[in-house]
Amino acid sequence: MSPIYNFSAGPAVLPQAVLEKAQAELVNYQGSGMSIMEMSHRGKIFSGVRDRAEAALRELMAIPDSYAVLFLQGGASSQFSMVPLNLTRGGKADYVNTGAWSKKAIAEAKRYTQVRVVASSEDKTFCYIPALEASMFDPEADYVHITTNNTIYGTVFPELPPVGGVPLVADMSSNILSQVYRVEDFGLIYAGAQKNIGPAGVTIVIVRRDLLGQVLPATPKMFEYQIHADNDSMYNTPPTYGIYMAGLVFEWVLSQGGVAAMEARNREKAALLYDFLDGSELFSSTVQGAARSIMNVPFLLPSDELNAQFIAEADAAGLKTLKGHRSVGGMRASIYNAMPREGVVALVDFMKAFEAKAKARV
Ligand SMILES: *Cc1c(COP(=O)(O)O)cnc(C)c1O
Repeated sequence: MSPIYNFSAGPAVLPQAVLEKAQAELVNYQGSGMSIMEMSHRGKIFSGVRDRAEAALRELMAIPDSYAVLFLQGGASSQFSMVPLNLTRGGKADYVNTGAWSKKAIAEAKRYTQVRVVASSEDKTFCYIPALEASMFDPEADYVHITTNNTIYGTVFPELPPVGGVPLVADMSSNILSQVYRVEDFGLIYAGAQKNIGPAGVTIVIVRRDLLGQVLPATPKMFEYQIHADNDSMYNTPPTYGIYMAGLVFEWVLSQGGVAAMEARNREKAALLYDFLDGSELFSSTVQGAARSIMNVPFLLPSDELNAQFIAEADAAGLKTLKGHRSVGGMRASIYNAMPREGVVALVDFMKAFEAKAKARV
């Protein structure tokens, strides 16, 4: 059987080695006679799993002790509310609008604080990242919120915005661990697991401890970062199996050389695809320049008929889930950490052959 390559935007491909390890340990975890899924979250075995997952993530991202690492639930979408509920002090926040997820974060924050949209790329279907200067940000804002990688539109912030001393909050759901970031440049980082970390159900929050401890009055207990930080993410039953899987992925990234090595591989994989798109007379890329994501690559053919034909033929050839998001159309290849280079090579080869066939027909 020839391999299947899954280009899904999320839930997305996981490393084969991780799935096989999880399979081997599924029914009887390390001689305990039980599955991780069946164990108390307060027992010794699961505590060890959780501690190792946190330690591995701290090592991967060089997270200082002055930051708490939380394993929460509710997806990145819950963070759209948790961030303003926990970080509002003076009552105003700056947001950069670079896509559908930013818009949702903005809409939710407006329920709790005064939101100023500093810049937006909505005028061109979010195909670029707006230029940002220090003078555009309010030094009195409680925080500045960005979406580092825009999963739907295939854009990434080429550099972090110059926010001065204001805490920078980042939704890193679709590019955490794919490139090196300095945690100290952020007040808070959050990410749903299902793109680059593990199965859906776990949300990672990395937050500077000095930002904790003050929430808006009606904040639900479950939405207080401090409660989770004080209880090692075990205030209630955490998503135990998801944390276990995330830990296996963290250890896999370490075994691959860490985030810097992953970034080098991701850049090379993405370049294979972008170089082909830039040289093609048939396919086109929807994003230009330094804002091109190395995780999500949308691309188009000249007509809806050709897009549909390409998606169907690619699927039959084992290149799965390439249909683009409805707001961009065409195709999107999500090439997260776990997508092997061979998968990208297979996709580019398939696109070349598709183009040659289309040319022969005219
Ligand atoms: C997928 C995604 C989300 C939504 O995550 P959920 O876990 O489904 O809430 C938010 N932001 C970004 C950038 C995403 O890619």
